[in-house]
Parts: sequence; C-alpha cells; structure tokens
Amino acid sequence: MNGSQVVIGIDIGTTSTKAVIFEEDGRIRTMHAVEYPMFHPQREWAEQDPHVLFSAVMQSIQGAIYKGHVSAEQVKAIGFSAAMHSLILVDEHHRPLTNCMIWTDNRGSKQAEQLRNSEKGIEIYKKTGTPIHPMSPLVKLMWFKEHMPHVFERTYKFISIKEYVLYQWFQQYVVDYSIASATGLFSLQTLDWDEEILTFLGIERSQLSSPVSTTYTLREMAKRWAEQLGISRNTPVVIGASDGVLANVGVGAVLPHEAAITIGTSGAVRTISSIPKTDEQGRTFCYVLSENQWVVGGPTNNGGILLRWLRDEFGAQEKEVAKRLGIDPYDLLTQYAARVPAGSEGLLFLPFLSGERAPYWDAHARGTFFGISLQHKREHFIRAVMEGVCMSVFSVALAVRDVIGPLSEIRVSGGFAKSPFWRQMLCDMMGKELLVPETHEASALGAASLALYAIGDISSLQEVKSWLRISSRHEPNEQHTAIYAELFDLYTRLYRQLKDEFQIISSFQRKYV
Ligand code: ADP
Repeated sequence: MNGSQVVIGIDIGTTSTKAVIFEEDGRIRTMHAVEYPMFHPQREWAEQDPHVLFSAVMQSIQGAIYKGHVSAEQVKAIGFSAAMHSLILVDEHHRPLTNCMIWTDNRGSKQAEQLRNSEKGIEIYKKTGTPIHPMSPLVKLMWFKEHMPHVFERTYKFISIKEYVLYQWFQQYVVDYSIASATGLFSLQTLDWDEEILTFLGIERSQLSSPVSTTYTLREMAKRWAEQLGISRNTPVVIGASDGVLANVGVGAVLPHEAAITIGTSGAVRTISSIPKTDEQGRTFCYVLSENQWVVGGPTNNGGILLRWLRDEFGAQEKEVAKRLGIDPYDLLTQYAARVPAGSEGLLFLPFLSGERAPYWDAHARGTFFGISLQHKREHFIRAVMEGVCMSVFSVALAVRDVIGPLSEIRVSGGFAKSPFWRQMLCDMMGKELLVPETHEASALGAASLALYAIGDISSLQEVKSWLRISSRHEPNEQHTAIYAELFDLYTRLYRQLKDEFQIISSFQRKYV
C-alpha cells in the first residue's frame, strides 16, 4: 500500500462520473469512471436517472479507492465538480418526481425565445449572468409550470444533481454559489436567490437549497454510505463548484484575465474576472468560482464535433488509409488540411451545424460553405472546417474581451489540442501566444485543489499552476493572422446577412423531415 495522503476529485459529467485520486502535488494516482445513458423520452428532451447517477458517484469512488490501494485514513478530502444547469424536482419525502434534466435538454426552447427577446429576459440575464437559453433551470421551470403544473405544484425542492447526491450523504439541501449562479435564479451581486425572479416563477425560497460558498465543507456522512465507500464519516467533503469554472482552475487559468480555451466536442472560452460582469448584448455568461473570482465566458456548440462529422460522413476513404497506416484518421485529415495555405484559398465555412450558442445565441443558424470554386479540393474543405471552428471560438473570445478587457495568458485543452497543426491555426487566428498545459481531468483537478484550499492545505488556487507542466507554446504567424483577420470580418458579415435566411432553412428542415 502506498502510504501518502491523497485528495479525491469527483466530476459528475454528461456521459460519466469520474473519481480521480490525486497525490498532494496534483499528480493523478488513479481514476475510475462510470458511464450512464441519456434518455430522450420526447424530441428535445434529455434526461438521466438520478438513482443511476448517484450509484455512478458511489461506484466511481469505490473503484478509484480500490485501484489506488487507498485506506480510509489516507483520504484527506473530497472535492466536487458537476455539470451545470441540471434540474430534478423532488417531493417532501425527498424522492425524485422527475428524472434529472440535463443541460442539453431543449424542451424550453419556446419559453427561452420569448423571454430572451423581452425586457424581463435582459434584466434577468444581467442580474444572474446566466444566458436565457433552454439549458437554464429558470427556463426549464417555466416549461414545467406551463406544461406539467400538477408536478410543479407538488414539488418540495428544485435541485441539481450535486444537491441530490449531497442530500443522500448528509441530509442537507445545500448548493454552492457556482452551481446556483448557473440556474438563472441567483443574484451575482448578493450571492443569494433573487426574490423578484422567484416571484416571477411563482416559487418559494424554501423550495431551493441554501446557497453556500464553494469551499463549504460537509462532514458526518451517513454511516451507511461512508461504509460502502470505505472512507471515514468525518472525511471533509468540500462542495466545490461547476465543471466549467473548475476546468479553468485545473488548467491553471486562475488569475484575472487569464483564459482557458477548450475545444472538445463543443468548445468554450472562459476567463477569470475579479468582479461579476455581464454583457450589454447578452453574449457571455458569468458564473461564480469563489466570493472574489468569477468566470466570464461563452460556449460554442461547434467545436471538434465538426471534424468528427467530416470524418464520419465524408471520410470513409481517409478512415481506410489511416487504418492501413495504423494512424488516427484525425491525424490524416489534419495532414491533408496542412497542404492548403491559411485561408483555404478563399473557401470560408460558417460552422453552425448545431445552431450556435455564444456569441449569437441563435438556434436557427446553420452551416455554410462560402466561395466554393472548381479549384477547391477535399483538403480545402477539411481546412475550411477547421478554420471555421477556430473562427467560432475567436468570435466568443472577442465577446469575452469586450466584457472584461484584454486576455492575458491563454491556455488551451480538449481533443483538438492533440493536433499541433490545429493549435497553431487557433493561435494564428487569435494573434496571441497559446500555452498547452499537460493536463488531464481538469475539472476533477480543479475540484481537488479547491478541496485542498478549503481545508487549508494550500494557500491559494494559484498553486495549481506549479503542478502543471507546459508541454508546448505557440507564437502567432503574423501573415496568417492578417489573412484570418480579413476572413473573420467576412465571416461576421456573412452571419449577419444570412441570419434571417437561416430561420427559413431551419424551419424548412423541420417542415419536411
Ligand atoms: P469530448 O471530451 O468533448 O467528448 P474530446 O476532448 O475527446 O471530446 O475531443 C473530441 C474532438 O477532438 C474530436 O471530435 C476531434 O474533433 C478532436 N480530436 C481528437 N483527436 C484529434 C486529433 N488527433 N487531431 C485533431 N483533432 C482531434
């Protein structure tokens, strides 16, 4: 048995829950992930079973403890990260009346569209920092009130998945400021539920959990669960924050103006701000990390999923070749793209295949190749798609910059970062240096470090920086930056000009499916 002390970071994600065991210097000792399904009982609904999620949390911790040969005394603390925007309605016996509606649930799209375009919507966004979008629990509650009033009226508590798990363990309904700040019901200024919004929804403060700091620590876990986990009942469980803001900590972007850009399936730009800030145009979010740190940023729907779409729909040939060569088809696609100069010789791609969140918040936007000519070959299309993804991320970064001022250091992560070529492309687009930290499980590391901070083991979250090696740095190529600046201008103009046409083509799609 390895005798040193450890800290466990738990990350309740969209497809799985991961428990990661970290040494005290942030190195991963071991981890265990438990996956679960998502249900779509109706078009646009996206749900998960709270019981299954709870057992996944239990199993992931048990699995990690077992694999890491960890004894009860060695666990210094447990820190929690969870996906934002989940909602479960529970009754007075603390039993779920609904499944857990997750952030991809779009059932409230009509309610969101109406509220977003009203004075009330703008006021709510400015107070709460949560964009008015179907992902927001506020909008989900509006939907419930309208479509399932009998369930809405019977509800004892409206909670998120983290609150559900913590209630099982500690019989307390508490919610950290961070998860609360992503509900659309929570005031960024007072760090409390907003009475006006509660009245607007027709719910009582007692139907929500008590908001607490992200360093709030729970002890005396119910004996039954502590025994099953193989940990002491008194192990400090630090409530933590949401996965997005903790991912910033986990990549080492923790000081004001430092930014983290992630491009996995989707993408996000997130920057630390020392005061809460929202956008006059409603383009960005503002979520709490701690009482003096906020994360201002924006998510894009159209990240790495576009290269996956290209590979799966048009890349049968590349898949074959990659298989023969024993390489990843993505590596082959990016090699092809590299044969074409920056700007894809005048082929521009608007990447809105799944609508867009930040900065446009336009569910009707669609993809467009613009400027196709006979000289454009496969590789031009591949490169244009990769450039389109970078442009969508760049447009979010510009909105964030408008809100909080210039970004200082930028750290990148996510599946796209496996490709040095794609990273350089983003660097050229941004016209700024990019750092690539060697990071794995950033949200879990963020949760674990917040736990160490809460129990007084580290004096600031900045210590995480010294745990992370920078594996590479990129400097912008000025010539490419100039080309991209010109194309980006065209990109934003094209979007504006096509905005109304996108409405037509997306309703056409719905009409004739
Ligand atoms: P998620 O965690 O969101 O499921 P990942 O972080 O695994 O996603 O990233 C997935 C995306 O990263 C893929 O869709 C692809 O666009 C991109 N990606 C993964 N590997 C590579 C690679 N070797 N080269 C270029 N892009 C890659």
